[in-house]
Amino acid sequence: MTDTRAVRTRTRGARVRRPATSLVTDTMHADAGLPTAGTGVLDAGALGTSDLDSEMDVATELLLRARDVVLVAHVHPDADALGSALALGLGLARRGTPVAVSFAEPVAIPESLRNLPGGHLVVRPEQLPENPDLLVSLDVGSAERLGSLARLLHTCRQSLVIDHHPSNTRFGQFHLVDPSAEATVVLVARLLDRLGIPIDRQIADNLYAGLATDTGHFRHADSAAHQLAARLIDAGVRPAEVMFPITESHPFGWLGMLSTVLGGAVLDREVAHGRGLVYTVIDDVTRGGLRPEELDSVIDILRTAQEAAVAAVLKQTDEHIWQVSLRSRGDIDVAAVAGALGGGGHVRAAGFTHHGDPLLAIDALRAVLAG
Ligand code: 5GP
Ligand code: MN
Repeated sequence: MTDTRAVRTRTRGARVRRPATSLVTDTMHADAGLPTAGTGVLDAGALGTSDLDSEMDVATELLLRARDVVLVAHVHPDADALGSALALGLGLARRGTPVAVSFAEPVAIPESLRNLPGGHLVVRPEQLPENPDLLVSLDVGSAERLGSLARLLHTCRQSLVIDHHPSNTRFGQFHLVDPSAEATVVLVARLLDRLGIPIDRQIADNLYAGLATDTGHFRHADSAAHQLAARLIDAGVRPAEVMFPITESHPFGWLGMLSTVLGGAVLDREVAHGRGLVYTVIDDVTRGGLRPEELDSVIDILRTAQEAAVAAVLKQTDEHIWQVSLRSRGDIDVAAVAGALGGGGHVRAAGFTHHGDPLLAIDALRAVLAG
């Protein structure tokens, strides 16, 4: 902890505002942070610029100067990740910047997100330029969450990480990371304002989808987020229409799958010093070919169990690979729990990937929650 703080102070304590050209480097430095002292015009902390303001300045400048931009969401993108990439992509395209949006997996846009405007910007990973001028990752907490597209971190000229995960590892070169933002789309909306790009209906639809999704449909939204939503509605968003395919529409087979996995849920009251864990396992057979959207809906039901402070859903993604979703109803920080198991996320919503027997993942979870 102490070490991390020391590094932050060294790299960001004395704030520097360099001439604009100084951000444009010839080579990619994966470990480079914000500009450091001694090479530019000092803009001392006394001027009151916060770290976040500096990050916003740098991000704005990178986007204004980029010759072409590749925008990448995390694997199996949700509405915040894809909505952020599409909103920023549409905005930059309107400025005349060549853009492409992508994600490593799955091969196509998840069905529930196909109505989001800007889908024409999405290209397959293999069609992306190998040496983009600027690579922007959106809603990606760690390089692994880029999947195979993490390779672009080494071949792009510059990279910018825009994210709101507290567990963000600050991979890549430049960062706009604000864990107090409810969603990555909140940061994108601020950036679009800085860039002077109007938020039209198409951009607003994307921003709204991400905001609604990541705030639990505004249950975890502060007044600024509600004001952003109002602004988006004024721009033309019809909330029920945008959210319908994302949250209100499942195939009939979903009901049977729910019945099986909810009926098979286990409540372990002893876990987490008696605060309780509820979990269920969805293997390929139970899944029965249903979409990831149907699997992802299960945790929202499981987490309502009053007797358990933590809920977990184990979803089979390959023969021996399980994606584990965690939710917390109390003060247990599941981002820390997931972090201890190789994943990450938010205090109340996090996840990790497990290789091997799913019951061993539960054992590992029990052990971490006993700590
Ligand atoms: P979900 O359970 O909805 O898939 O994910 C909840 C949160 O945890 C999201 O913010 C997501 O980005 C994060 N998350 C889920 N799985 C992983 C993982 O394997 N690694 C990391 N770093 N974060 C994850
Ligand atoms: Mn998000």
